[in-house]
Amino acid sequence: MTNLVQPIRARGIRKSYGSLEVLKGVDLDLAKGEVLCILGPSGSGKSTLLRCLNHLERPDGGMVEFEGCPVGYRLKGDRFHELPEREIQKQRKSMGMVFQRFNLFPHLTARENIMEAPRRVLKVSQAEASARAERLMAQVGLADKLDVYPGALSGGQQQRVAIARALAMDPSVMLFDEPTSALDPELVGEVLDVMRMLADSHAMSMIVVTHEIGFARSVADRVIFMDGGVIVEEGPPDEILVHPQHERTQAFLRRIL
Ligand code: ADP
Ligand code: MG
Repeated sequence: MTNLVQPIRARGIRKSYGSLEVLKGVDLDLAKGEVLCILGPSGSGKSTLLRCLNHLERPDGGMVEFEGCPVGYRLKGDRFHELPEREIQKQRKSMGMVFQRFNLFPHLTARENIMEAPRRVLKVSQAEASARAERLMAQVGLADKLDVYPGALSGGQQQRVAIARALAMDPSVMLFDEPTSALDPELVGEVLDVMRMLADSHAMSMIVVTHEIGFARSVADRVIFMDGGVIVEEGPPDEILVHPQHERTQAFLRRIL
């Protein structure tokens, strides 16, 4: 694996809000096709880390590279300059993001939700965007809900549409931030199944922040445990989830299992 195709490489990411130091120097690598699960207690900095990776949040220090190119900044001489918003958008669209809250546009059908960004950002034709929406809705098992409004869908179905919407931009990396945490328990499985399908396709590099230990054990190539703004330990799922070395990891797993 050469560094050039490595989807994400982050070094020494730091972020504070006022006097609260949320990320205290985080290094993170994501290999092509790799599924990385991030676990950790609430407030440990997981969402902030994901947001730093695609420059929704500007880190105070450290650097992020996406496919070998710095994200958000360019170095000129010895100074960092923020990239123009247009370029940041371009980088961002290569990283699909799915949040805990699906935030679909309520006044648009599933099809229209999925077509919106490809039309507006990628300037894809109406026909092509619509065909893409049909293909993706079939892929997430919702072929019969194409022209339905989000309000008429269950939370699990809305989240599957949100995944289809992210995939419509043809990203090479998908970032999931607790995609099932807001769902009723009986709806969690259908969303995890879609993510599992994506992981099994081997084409998608994925970072998944989740508390779903079963999913992490069966799907992740690697697991990271975060606490207090640092990576406490990382390794293969069985190592971290079954035989964690750190007391903090052990305590966390005892609490959620
Ligand atoms: P996690 O996703 O692991 O629960 P977060 O990254 O959301 O953790 O948050 C880490 C800490 O940073 C929390 O204490 C949270 O309250 C704080 N925080 C996150 N975003 C902001 C913000 N925009 N302004 C101020 N504090 C924030
Ligand atoms: Mg979070």
